[in-house]
Amino acid sequence: MCGIVGVLGSGKASSELYNGLLAIQHRGQNGAGMYVFDGDAAVLKKDKGLIGEVFDEETLEGLEGSSGIGHVRYPTIGSDVERDAQPFKVEEPIEIAMAHNGNIVNYREMVEEYELELDSTCDLELILHIFAKELDKEDKIDEDALFSAVERVMEKLNGSYSVVAMIPDFGLFLFRDPKGIRPFVFGKKVNLNGTSFAVASENTVLDILGYKVLRDVLPGEAILIKEDRSYQARQLKNMEPKHCMFEWVYFARPDSTIERINVYEARFRLGRQLAKEWKKKNDHKLDVVIPVPDTARTHALAVAEELDIPYREGLLRNRYIGRTFIMPDQTSRETAVKTKLNPIIEEVKGKKVGLVDDSIVRGTTSKKLIKLIRDCKAEEVHFLVGSPPIVSPCYYGIDIPTKEELEASDKTIKEIEKDIGADSLTYQSIDGLVRGVAKKKDHLCLACLDENYPTRVREDIRDYFEDMRRKERKKVKQGSN
Ligand code: AMP
Repeated sequence: MCGIVGVLGSGKASSELYNGLLAIQHRGQNGAGMYVFDGDAAVLKKDKGLIGEVFDEETLEGLEGSSGIGHVRYPTIGSDVERDAQPFKVEEPIEIAMAHNGNIVNYREMVEEYELELDSTCDLELILHIFAKELDKEDKIDEDALFSAVERVMEKLNGSYSVVAMIPDFGLFLFRDPKGIRPFVFGKKVNLNGTSFAVASENTVLDILGYKVLRDVLPGEAILIKEDRSYQARQLKNMEPKHCMFEWVYFARPDSTIERINVYEARFRLGRQLAKEWKKKNDHKLDVVIPVPDTARTHALAVAEELDIPYREGLLRNRYIGRTFIMPDQTSRETAVKTKLNPIIEEVKGKKVGLVDDSIVRGTTSKKLIKLIRDCKAEEVHFLVGSPPIVSPCYYGIDIPTKEELEASDKTIKEIEKDIGADSLTYQSIDGLVRGVAKKKDHLCLACLDENYPTRVREDIRDYFEDMRRKERKKVKQGSN
C-alpha cells in the first residue's frame, strides 16, 4: 500500500506535502518523495526511508513552488526500495510527474505490448509511460487529449490505481481505476491567498491542511485541476465499484472517512458484529477484553461494550517501532512482535482474556501474543478477529502474501485455534463484515476472503506473483543471514 498527496496553488507546496505525507505515513514507510513546481521549473526528490528521513528542513526550504505531488511507499512484490521510490517523471511528449497507490495485475503484458524498457519494477513507472505514449498519439496535446489518453490507459490497465500527476503545462491531473479499489479524495481551500486544491489517499490529510473535502474521486473518473483554479471532471468508465474492505478493517486511519464511511465508526460496528459472532458460539463469560494495539482498539472497545465486559489495555505498545509488516521476512517479524508489545501482567493474570485483533494474516502476531499472555498466567485466552478468515492473496496492493503463508488458507477454524494456541477462536463473518463497513456487499472487494477478484487474474499471473513473492522472501532472508 502507498499514500499519495497533491497540492495546487498552496502557499508553500513542500510544507503542505510534507505535513500531508506525515499524516499518511502509516500507508508506507519504505520510501518517500516529492515533485514540486514553482511555475517555471520543477524539482524531484525521492529516496528510501520515512518522510522525516528523506526531507529535512533545509531540503524542504529549497523546494520552491506552490504546486506538487508527494508519495510514501509501501513495498509489495519484487520491489527495490531506491529505484522504486515515487514520484516518477517523463519529459516526452511533455513533462509529467506521477505517483500512485495501487497495483497493476497485467504489468508484464503491458510492458510487452508497449515495448517498454523501464528503469524500475514499480508499476507506476509503467502507468506513466503508457499514459505518455497514449498522449503522444494525440494530434494536439490539450485538455481533451489528457482525458482521451487516460481513457485508453484505463482500457488497457487491469488492477487498482489511484493516480496523481503534476503536468506543469496544465496543473494537477488525477484518475482512479474503474472499480475504485484504493481510496482517493480531493478538496479545496479558499483564504486570503486565494483558492488552492489538495488531493490525497485519505481525507485526514485535507483536514490537517485546512482543506474542505469536495468528494471522493469517482471510480473511473479523471479530474484536471488547472492553474486558473478551476477544475474539470469526467467519468470515463462507469462500473460497479469494488472498494477494498481492508481499508476500513485495518489500513486507513480511524479518523479518515472513505466513500462517506468513517473508519472509526466502521471499526466500532465491526466490533459489535464480532461480539455477536462470539455470542452465537459461547455462553461463558470473559473477565476482560484486551485489544492488540493499535488498530484493534476500536474493534475491542465495541466487543467489550456489546458483551458488557470490562475493556482493558493489557498490551503496551512501543510506539517507536513501526508496523510489524515493515519487517519483510519472517525472522525479523517474529523478533519485532516481542519488542513491540509488552503485557501488563496485572491485567491478565488469573483472568479469562478475550484478545481482539483486526486480522490474522500469517498468524505470527496471534501466536506470539497468545503465548505472551499465557506466560502471564492468564486462565484462558480467547482470540477474536475483526475480519473473516483471509484465505487468498491480494493483487491490488496490500501485502497479503502467498497462499502457503496465509494462516487460514488451508486450515479449519479448529486447526487455526490449535495452531495459534487459543482456547477458542472467533472470526468475523462475511455478513458481519459487510454490515460493519455499511457498504453494499457488491460494492466491496472481498477477494482475499472469497477469491472473487474484481478484475481478471489469470492463473499464470497468480503463479507469477507467488513466485515473485517467494523469491523476494528468499532474497531478504539471505540478506539478513
Ligand atoms: P500476522 O501476524 O501475519 O497474522 O498479521 C496480522 C497482524 O498484522 C495484525 O495485528 C494486523 O493488525 C497486522 N496486519 C494485517 N494485515 C497487514 C498488512 N497488510 N500490512 C501490515 N500489517 C498488517
